[in-house]
This record gives sequence, structure tokens and C-alpha cells, in this order.
Amino acid sequence: MYKCFKVKKLIVPVIILLCIAFAGKKFFSNACQEEKDIELPVIMYHSIYTDSPSEYAVSPEQIENDLKWLSEKGYKSVSAQNLCDYVFNNKTLPEKSVMITLDDGYYNNLPVLVPLLEKYDMCAVVSIVGKYTNEYAEKDPNNLNYSYLTWNDVNELIKSGRIEIGNHTYDMHSLYNGRKGCAKNAYESEENYVSAVSADISLMQEKIKENTGISAFVFAYPFGAVSPECRPVLRENGFLVTLTCRETVNYINHNPKCLLGIGRFNRSGLYSTEEFMRKIFS
Ligand SMILES: [Zn+2]
Repeated sequence: MYKCFKVKKLIVPVIILLCIAFAGKKFFSNACQEEKDIELPVIMYHSIYTDSPSEYAVSPEQIENDLKWLSEKGYKSVSAQNLCDYVFNNKTLPEKSVMITLDDGYYNNLPVLVPLLEKYDMCAVVSIVGKYTNEYAEKDPNNLNYSYLTWNDVNELIKSGRIEIGNHTYDMHSLYNGRKGCAKNAYESEENYVSAVSADISLMQEKIKENTGISAFVFAYPFGAVSPECRPVLRENGFLVTLTCRETVNYINHNPKCLLGIGRFNRSGLYSTEEFMRKIFS
């Protein structure tokens, strides 16, 4: 009787200890899982002007300083393909990853950006607007301050091996008739919206394919304006990575959803490299 009581007395604390140990193990394995997520800051540039930096234009010196800063701090730039390889194919990503993106498809991206990417061994995603590249650029090409990339220029970018091309819509890069970018207009039906956005985005996919041979899998929302109704359209058009303008660091894991709605920090030319980097990395 006494013996039995003693054993019972022992069993209870042992069970409690086991429970605590198990709970602790579970806690730590979850914590490790979270720690394994790769932090991914993404920088969004637009034009690289030779003069007068603005909210949406940096000087060649500013972008070079940024790349130098990142490189000296040990950051490695990753491509959208690297992200997909990590998520879908179990490949690795650098611990200090950063992604460089440029929107709108300015001509100056070609002569200024490519040599800098080569110098600092980096890569970037350039998201182009169909109407700008297909129509405007051809009429007035090669001006460093205002021209857009022609299809020839886009092919030169691809040939550099350091640039991926993203779809930034064919003709929805505007604030027009109550619509912001490719977001749903408050007054239109879902059916009308889906038909309009689908026509535009698939037209741009066709143009990219026809002129470069590639199937774009990165989509950059104009103005970062997102509508949930747009997501199935993007999925149908083969996009695996979508970029917004939410100024936040991303956490990449093996769930494909982490590649949708990636946040980016707009690199305004009105700040120094140190000021801008402080915003992201502090
Ligand atoms: Zn844009």
C-alpha cells in the first residue's frame, strides 16, 4: 500500500515534467520554424535620372551608393526565380537577402543599371508597362531622362542575365475614371471588372511573350493598388510573385502564398543612402 502510494506520488510529477518538456519542445520547434523564414527587404526604384532626383527618381550616384551599401553589409540580391526555387524546389536563399526592383520600364535602366549590377554582382526585376514600351518608347527612344525601354532594350536587359521582366499591366498604369491602377472601381460590377483586368493583363503577357519569348511570372501592381478580385486573374495568367508598395519587410518560407503581395520600400531620391537604409533595416 505504502509502495503503491509512493509510485503514484512519483508518476504524477514525472507526467507533469514530460508534459512540460513536450510542450517546450513544441514551442521551440515552432520558434525555429519562424526563425527559418528568410527576411526579405525589397527596394522599389523607378527612373534613374542624370539630374534632379525626386520621389520617383534617383541619380546614378544614389543607386550606386545603395548597391555599395548593401554589398558592404553582406546583402546578396535575389531574383524572383531564386525565390520560386526556394519556395517550390527546396533550394537555398542567402541569409541576408535583398531584392532590387524597378518599375515602369525607363530607358535609363539599361545603360545605368546593368553596369552597376555587374559591378556589384547583383540582379533586379524590371516591371514594364505595355503601352509605354509598345507604343511610347518606339516614338521617342533613348533619352536618358524620359524615354521608356523599347522591346529591343528589354531584350538587351534580359541578355545581360541580371534582369527579369515583370508585367506592370498593358494600359492600367493610371488613375482614370475612378480606377487606381488595376484595382476594382467602386462602381463597376465584379464581372465587368474581371473582364477588363483580365483583358489587359493577358494582353501584356502576350506582348511580352511575342517580343521577348519569355513568360513573365512577376506582376507589379500599379501604385500598389490591390483588389482581391484580381488575384484569380493573376493566378490564371501564371504569376507566382506579385509586388505591392506596402512598405514592409517580407518573410519568405515554403508556403507559395508568401510570394504574393510582396511589400516594397519606395526609394525616393530625396534621401541619402543612409537615411533610406535606416528606414528598412532599423
Ligand atoms: Zn508603376
